[in-house]
Amino acid sequence: MRSRSRFQVNDLVYVPCQGKAVPFSSGVVVEVTDQVVVLTDDGCHSCAPDELRLRFDGESCQDNTSLVYLNDASILQNLKARHQEDAIYTYTASVLLAVNPYHNVEGLYSQDQCARYRGKHIGALPPHPYAIADAAYRALVREHKNQAFIISGESGAGKTETAKIVMQYLGFVSGSSSSITAQIQQRILQAQPILESFGNAVTMRNNNSSRFGKYNRIFFDETGTLVDAGVTTYLLESSRVVTHGNLERSYHCFYEMLSGLAEEKLSQWQLSREKQYIILSSDTKPSEVTKDQAEYERTWHIQFQERDQKNFQRLCDALRVVGFSEEDMDSIFQVLAGLVHLGDLSLAERDEGQESSSVELDEEILEKAAGLLGMDADELSSALRRRKVRVLHPGRESVHEVPRTTSQFRHALHSLIKALYKRLFERLVDRINGSFQELSSQSEDDFHRREIGILDIYGFERLQRNSFEQLCINLANERLQQYFVENVLMAEQDLYRREGLPWPGLVLPDSSPVVSAIGHTFRILDEYSQQLAKGFEKTDESFCQKTVDEAQKDPARREFLRQLRVSKRRPTAVNEGFMVKHYAGLVEYNTKGWLDKNNDRLLPDCEELIGSSSFELVASLKDEDMGKAPFRSISKKYCTDLENLLQTLSSCQLHYIRCFKPNDFQKAGVFDETLVLDQIVQCGTVELVKLMHDGYPNRCRFQEMLRFRDLLPESFQRYGTRTFIEALLLAYDVPVEDWALGMSRVFLRAGQLKALEDLRSAG
Ligand code: ATP
Ligand code: MG
Repeated sequence: MRSRSRFQVNDLVYVPCQGKAVPFSSGVVVEVTDQVVVLTDDGCHSCAPDELRLRFDGESCQDNTSLVYLNDASILQNLKARHQEDAIYTYTASVLLAVNPYHNVEGLYSQDQCARYRGKHIGALPPHPYAIADAAYRALVREHKNQAFIISGESGAGKTETAKIVMQYLGFVSGSSSSITAQIQQRILQAQPILESFGNAVTMRNNNSSRFGKYNRIFFDETGTLVDAGVTTYLLESSRVVTHGNLERSYHCFYEMLSGLAEEKLSQWQLSREKQYIILSSDTKPSEVTKDQAEYERTWHIQFQERDQKNFQRLCDALRVVGFSEEDMDSIFQVLAGLVHLGDLSLAERDEGQESSSVELDEEILEKAAGLLGMDADELSSALRRRKVRVLHPGRESVHEVPRTTSQFRHALHSLIKALYKRLFERLVDRINGSFQELSSQSEDDFHRREIGILDIYGFERLQRNSFEQLCINLANERLQQYFVENVLMAEQDLYRREGLPWPGLVLPDSSPVVSAIGHTFRILDEYSQQLAKGFEKTDESFCQKTVDEAQKDPARREFLRQLRVSKRRPTAVNEGFMVKHYAGLVEYNTKGWLDKNNDRLLPDCEELIGSSSFELVASLKDEDMGKAPFRSISKKYCTDLENLLQTLSSCQLHYIRCFKPNDFQKAGVFDETLVLDQIVQCGTVELVKLMHDGYPNRCRFQEMLRFRDLLPESFQRYGTRTFIEALLLAYDVPVEDWALGMSRVFLRAGQLKALEDLRSAG
């Protein structure tokens, strides 16, 4: 066999093409010297051999590891060809790749399909989340091992939809005639629309973008019957409640409520479907918007009305299934109505710097908001406009009120709205979890329980402007990617070594320096946020400076966290942020507002307002942690949650589903090759494919191979297992380069195990 890196005349190849709409063009080699000359549709190109990828014109493959040539271009073409035929799923050995079709693929998901996949081994039917879910479920029942699905991909790639598809299958396969199981199942499914109404929003990239991470857990007893469930959520983007970009929206629930609520409720809460509420409209100031733009925005909003109306009913139905009473639901919507009115108290930017006590607040709005939230209008107004300062005199303490400036007023108002919304969201999650417990307490002992977890967490983000939230999100991705490298790629290589197979080894990415750099950044941030909360002079700029300086002192981290480049466009930006080199690319972070964003404590005056509300639901949202410390770290809580998640995952057998977004327009039938290639590279698929292809994706313990005993005459069973396996593989002409015997396992190249299974089923 010739070496793969050498080219010959007439070889079919892919040539990278810079600056074009597609990353590669197809061509054929016409001359080979030091350079390789390739003929493509637009003429001859002279290329360095390293740039070229071999191409094979054949049918698309269900599993990338069985592609004839394993390179990024071939994987890309395979995904593209399959996407065009609505074959949106493709395996890469055990990893399932999913390309978002952006339309309903006929007949792909149904009870009948679930039944088809039940009990089939992977590869027997076209790739599908059902197949992986079935394998996970069977492993759970047979081997009593916890299982977890890690679903990743960028915004709009289809993670949330895929998570639901997996849960649908698990519900199907684990059902029993017991009414409790059926009820739990129903609640698992109905919890999703609730979380989506309150935690998802329209963004530029996805009309139903999850603005929080979630880990759904489904518990089973020894027989594999569903007995309990739970959901953990991570870091809701609370800033979205008060601000969002142009052509984006706040959380769905507000619009759903306004579209779907009965007239009498609307008037009871003094809401109007027509009014443009500040927190529900775009940020742009009227003076900046042309008439055309304003008209465009108006019609843009209208496109969601029908969906909002329908989803309001869906939300109410779901809340009922999960056990909310009509009064509970009214309370929730009343709080939302209160927040909408409260948001309208925002003062115009032009008053910046002015003391807010001199600025008139709209009394009518103030009354409405205070009334709905069970607060006293005067107290609300005074908490927002003035802050209390305690002054210690010898032997006594006096309290003074200092007026807030307009920007401080806005800050206080926004913090109050964000805190109330975030706590309401957490309350809903608690209630959902409580509703599972209610049912599960009736089932037997917990000792033998096993679980399947489904992680639907925000993908890597590189927006035009990246802030604290993006760093948190990207840290999670860094950690999960490292986990993937360690658990899948490294473990695979270690196994080959341990089993004594010939294996040259791959250079694998290591995310520990960047994780350490981010960890350091968060520690400095905590220190600065804490100091600021205690009243010391600390600024976002000084935090940024310190972060960069510290990173530069450390040779391991230096390369991963750097000062922003000074450019013409941004001459003085050095202290406004830093750059981090992530596995998926370089990201610039803007550190404005971080000291404050990192503090989970609400201003004491606002906290008091919540606690003293006469409206039970609002009062119950007060911060239970009575400690007096003025600072509680958000990043620390987030990192702890993340480590706990990784800890949970470490007890699980992992199943990876990588979702891909085919285009930036949320359109069916469009496959943007450059966009998808970026995602293939970013998620480590190329390394995986290479490892799997060069390596042996299937491996079985010797003992497990005895399931093929019927394929050989009985007399062979007298010999040891090792001999039996050798005889089996030789008897069925499995090429010698396609298998290897290790110390305890047999290793098979892609496709060979499947071939044996097919023989077995045929027999
Ligand atoms: P985010 O990170 O923003 O939450 P996501 O990865 O969770 O994004 P989804 O909300 O799951 O993305 O998918 C975006 C949209 O793509 C869905 O609303 C749906 O319209 C479409 N979609 C995703 N998966 C499928 C599928 N399997 N079949 C049909 N449509 C799909
Ligand atoms: Mg989502």
